[in-house]
Amino acid sequence: MRVAIIGGGPAGLMAAAVLSGGVRVFESGNHPGRKLLLSGGGQCNITHAGGPEDFLPHYGGNGRFLKAALHAFPPQALLGFFRARGLEFVTREDGKVFPASLKARSVLDALVRAASGAVFHTGTKVTALRRVSGVFVIETEEGPRGDKNRYEADRVILATGGLSCLERGSGGSGYGLAQALGHSIRQPKPALCALSSPGLAPLAGNSFRNIGVSVFRPNSEAANGRHGQAPCGRAGGLAFRAAGDLLFTHRGVSGPVVLNLSRHIERGDTLAVNFLHPRKPEEFLAAFPPEAKKDPRKTLGGLLSEYHLTRALEDCILGRLAIPRAKTCALLARSEMRRLAEQLVRFPVPVAGTGGFRSAMVTAGGLCLDEVNPKTMESRIAAGLYFAGEVLDIDGDEGGYNLQAAFSTGYLAAKSIAT
Ligand SMILES: Cc1cc2nc3c(=O)[nH]c(=O)nc-3n(C[C@H](O)[C@H](O)[C@H](O)COP(=O)(O)OP(=O)(O)OC[C@H]3O[C@@H](n4cnc5c(N)ncnc54)[C@H](O)[C@@H]3O)c2cc1C
Repeated sequence: MRVAIIGGGPAGLMAAAVLSGGVRVFESGNHPGRKLLLSGGGQCNITHAGGPEDFLPHYGGNGRFLKAALHAFPPQALLGFFRARGLEFVTREDGKVFPASLKARSVLDALVRAASGAVFHTGTKVTALRRVSGVFVIETEEGPRGDKNRYEADRVILATGGLSCLERGSGGSGYGLAQALGHSIRQPKPALCALSSPGLAPLAGNSFRNIGVSVFRPNSEAANGRHGQAPCGRAGGLAFRAAGDLLFTHRGVSGPVVLNLSRHIERGDTLAVNFLHPRKPEEFLAAFPPEAKKDPRKTLGGLLSEYHLTRALEDCILGRLAIPRAKTCALLARSEMRRLAEQLVRFPVPVAGTGGFRSAMVTAGGLCLDEVNPKTMESRIAAGLYFAGEVLDIDGDEGGYNLQAAFSTGYLAAKSIAT
C-alpha cells in the first residue's frame, strides 16, 4: 500500500515513524519539524503530566474529539516512545514536561531517526490533491525552480498544520487541499497569542502569579450564563473567566492566562484583571472601606504595599485615579475608595487586538471535526484520507497540550492505516 503524508511537522513525523517503510513524506520547508524547533522557547514543552482524561478539558469545547487518540497514544506512551530512543524527561512543578536536554532539537532528531524508513521530499510543496478512480493523485512544486511533479497514493495523511507562526508554518495550504476533496473549514483564528492594549508600556515586564482574568464583551448578555460586573463602568456581559499567571508587555498583556483565553477574544473585549484573586471582587469591594479605614494615618502608598503588587502597578493605578501616594486613608473620599478598590479587583485592560497569526502559537478553527472519524482520524467524506495535528479544528491550552494532540492524532491515523 502506498501512503503519502503531507506535512513533516510533529504529527506527520509521528505518523511516518509508526508506518515506517513504504511511506512518502512531503514537506514544503527545507527540513522537517521547523515549528517543533521553536516550541517551548527552543526547549520543547512536549506534553503535560496527567492521563488522557486530564487532558480533555484543555482543548476548549473540542476535547471530546481527542478522546480516542489520547487513549491510543497517551502522554506516558509518548514519553516511552522517546525514552526508547534515548531521551529522558523532566517534569516541572507546574506539570509541564520537557526533554532533560531542554533542547527541542533532541526531540526532532529522535523523531526524524524514528521516521528514517520513509522517503522524504523536502522543499516540496503539495499544490493539489485529487482522487481519481480510488487513487489519490498528489501534485507538487519542487526545488528552487518550482518544478511540478505528480505522485500516486492509496492512503493520504494530511498533517499540514494551521496558520500559526506564518513564517515557519504552512500558510494554511492544507485547508485548500481538504476543501478540494469536499471538506469544510471552520474560520481559522489566532490562538495562544498575546493581546495588545494601549497605555500599558510602563508596566512592561511586570508579572503576577495566579491572578483572575474575566473577559467582558460589549452588547453581550452574560455569555454562557455567567454573571459578573464589567470593569469600571464599562458595559458588557461576562464572556469568559480564567486564572493563572499574567505578564505585562510593551504592547499589552501575555502570560499563560492570557494565551489560554486568546482563542475566545474579539476586538472590543475588555479584560478585568483581579490582582487579589482568589478574593472575589464583590466581597473585596464590600470589605475595602473598613480595611482602608483601619489605620486612618496610613498613606495610600503604605496601604497598597499590603497587597503585594509591584511599585509600577501601584503608580499606574494611582496615576489612573490621579490620587497622590502620600494622601492618607483618612482623607480618601468614598468615591475614591470605590474606584481604588475597583482597580485592584477589576483593573480594566481594553483589548485592541491579538498579535495575529504571526505571533500565534496555534490556530483555533480549521478542519471541521464532524467530517472526521475520531476513532481512526479518517475522513467521513473521502475514504482513505486521514488527518492529524493542527490542521484539525483543535487547539489546546499552553503547557504541552498541542504537541501531545499532534503526536496522538498522527499516531492514531498511522495505526488506523496500518491495521
Ligand atoms: C513559537 C511556538 C512555540 C510553541 N511551543 C509549544 C510547546 O512548547 N508545546 C506545545 O505543545 N506546543 C507548542 N507550540 C504548538 C506546536 O508547535 C504545534 O501545535 C505543532 O507544531 C503542530 O504540529 P503539526 O504537525 O500539526 O503542524 P506543523 O508543526 O505546523 O507542521 C506542519 C508541516 O506541514 C508543512 N506543510 C504545510 N503545507 C504543506 C504543503 N502544502 N505541502 C508540503 N508541506 C506542507 C509545513 O511546512 C510544516 O512543516 C508552539 C508553537 C509555536 C509557533
